[in-house]
Amino acid sequence: MKRKTKLIHGGISNDPATGAVTFPIYQVSTYKQEGIGGHKGFEYSRTGNPTRHALEELIKDIEGGTAGFAFGSGMAAITAVMMLFNSGDHVVLTDDVYGGTFRVMTKVLNRLGIESTFVDTSDLETLKSVIRPNTKAIYIETPTNPLLKVTDIEVVAALGKENGLLTIVDNTFSTPYWQNPLELGADIVLHSATKYLGGHSDVVAGLVVVNSDKLAEDFHFVQNSTGGILGPQDSFYLIRGIRTLGVRMEEIERNTEAIVEFLQAHPKVDKVFYPGLETHPNHDIAKKQARGFGGMISFDVGSEENANKLLSKIKYFTLAESLGAIESLISVPAKMTHASIPAERRAELGITEGLVRISVGIEDVEDLIEDLEQALES
Ligand SMILES: *Cc1c(COP(=O)(O)O)cnc(C)c1O
Repeated sequence: MKRKTKLIHGGISNDPATGAVTFPIYQVSTYKQEGIGGHKGFEYSRTGNPTRHALEELIKDIEGGTAGFAFGSGMAAITAVMMLFNSGDHVVLTDDVYGGTFRVMTKVLNRLGIESTFVDTSDLETLKSVIRPNTKAIYIETPTNPLLKVTDIEVVAALGKENGLLTIVDNTFSTPYWQNPLELGADIVLHSATKYLGGHSDVVAGLVVVNSDKLAEDFHFVQNSTGGILGPQDSFYLIRGIRTLGVRMEEIERNTEAIVEFLQAHPKVDKVFYPGLETHPNHDIAKKQARGFGGMISFDVGSEENANKLLSKIKYFTLAESLGAIESLISVPAKMTHASIPAERRAELGITEGLVRISVGIEDVEDLIEDLEQALES
């Protein structure tokens, strides 16, 4: 099965009980048993719900793993993955991971004795140097937010295997349509499904896929024990979003390429960050491990003042946090998503006051470019 076909026919594509072509919303908490223990695979909806199960089968199929798991948010999914570890264990993470991941590791899980170190995971020597006897996993995000840094998944997964560590990949930015970390050797892949997988700015959810029966068993135990599951209604919306992921990502890719070309040629734009550019420092790795470069672009307009001017004039790009939806979004990371990072640290990472991030949607690209043009002229 090719990729778009799998998005439509993967998982459980219709309801075996009724033939309904969309999988129904089983809005139910418990299930009648024909005698004690005599059930049809479902006992209680925290443990398993048919609609959530249909979604979990779908994400499992499209990421190519052994089992899928759905959570009430990306952060609930990430936290549950960390619950595979014990007090005294150590995890190495990409230095510019999603802010919420940094926060949960350094303000919550640290209190439970899970240690973390943040490094540039695209630099193999640095990565090797921070592995300790108690290290249990390498957690990477690629490409990252907002500077679109790329880590070689295959290289990190090989290093992980050599050292008996799990390799975990946050695949939110690339989506399984463009990038499949498990095929590159990773053990666990996860998503904020709030973004491209849902795709319509109407669901908050997280998804996890593991690559072995042992991990599937251990992780189902964590999911059922900690209970941060996704409800049936949101599972339904997420299945619906995933079915159109292919056409959306193809259209987003085309729009993004055109916008990148426009921005690069514009005299008021200093620098464009996009893994699809040949001048991107990790372009070759991005090209090797992903089939597309995604719809996130960051660019520098030189100053906070210029960024503010641009934002005040822009019409079709909605000023908002989040990403990956059908509508184009715009943000200034230094003032929004990354405001909680100390200014000094932001400067170190290269997140300047004039850095603007856009998440390209599926509007007509002519309108998007015209809009950027008039806003940049101001
Ligand atoms: C949004 C996001 C998360 C967190 O997901 P929520 O659904 O908001 O909890 C994690 N990782 C990345 C890369 C994200 O963009």
